[in-house]
Amino acid sequence: MTDQDIKKVSVVIPVYNEQESLNELIRRTQAACDTLTVDYEILLVDDGSSDRSAEMLTAAAELPGSKVVAVLLNRNYGQHSAIMAGFSHVSGDLIITLDADLQNPPEEIPRLVAVAMEGYDVVGTVRQNRQDSWFRKFASQMINRLIQRTTGKAMGDYGCMLRAYRRHIIDAMLHCHERSTFIPILANTFARRATEIPVMHAEREFGDSKYSFMRLINLMYDLITCLTTTPLRLLSVFGSIIALSGFAIAVLLVVMRLFLGPEWSAEGVFMLFAVLFIFVGAQFVGMGLLGEYIGRIYNDVRARPRYFIQRVVSNNADSTQDKQ
Ligand code: UDP
Ligand code: MG
Repeated sequence: MTDQDIKKVSVVIPVYNEQESLNELIRRTQAACDTLTVDYEILLVDDGSSDRSAEMLTAAAELPGSKVVAVLLNRNYGQHSAIMAGFSHVSGDLIITLDADLQNPPEEIPRLVAVAMEGYDVVGTVRQNRQDSWFRKFASQMINRLIQRTTGKAMGDYGCMLRAYRRHIIDAMLHCHERSTFIPILANTFARRATEIPVMHAEREFGDSKYSFMRLINLMYDLITCLTTTPLRLLSVFGSIIALSGFAIAVLLVVMRLFLGPEWSAEGVFMLFAVLFIFVGAQFVGMGLLGEYIGRIYNDVRARPRYFIQRVVSNNADSTQDKQ
């Protein structure tokens, strides 16, 4: 892949009650994109803001010759859904996402584009001097570790939304039917060549984070269910361990009773415990089985593409093309 593959860059930005930073965001993003050698568009998705964000976006898009495209959602769907909505309207070959609060400096866009042009499908970023609370940083670190362990892909920072994706990755993501997604992870499942670069991170200047504690927990569930169905499977593993140890204890008790007499076994109380363990374990095994079925139903319902062909090469003319 060479430079020629990228003729237009689309920047997708989700906006939720960000009226204070919008003008500056648009100005700085435009200035950064003007330095690119290719055409560009800036797609701003209003995620059902209750402030003046939607009107400001509409006004910016209606200016003559404006590179801004405003996509307005009817209500608040959440950051990742808003970005997906933006993806469904992009026309570029390389898509860049970033946050509207200016925590991701738009000035990094040309660097992302340059790295993507080296032939990467996904370019992630690692926040160098992350300006967030101690709690947020700690939570991110745990989550990043979990993802690395599950996917085996060594990306350092999944939380940073300043990222670049090639068009075929976006198309593949749009073919996934699940309701809740975590975009960086989904993108990685379709990427052949991914890389990461360090970027700067700024403090939030206006307003507060749009993620309350409950929303963060929800996001974490989205992330885990997007990633894996292992927790459902863990139920049966856990249950089997309890049932087996209950059984082992029961056998041990019977043997000890035979050797040490009825006084030792506290009139059968220990035995009751052992029986209880076996039943509790059996219940977990049953729940685990249910989990297994639910996991399969979930996989079918979200109907992710079963495989993803990035390109087919044969020596017939015209048959080298991107496909999925
Ligand atoms: N956002 C959104 N919908 C929401 C919550 C957030 O579109 O329901 C946008 C928000 O406007 C911002 C980005 O997602 O552009 C990241 O949000 P925020 O800065 O609040 O998250 P944090 O930086 O605290 O992770
Ligand atoms: Mg932010």
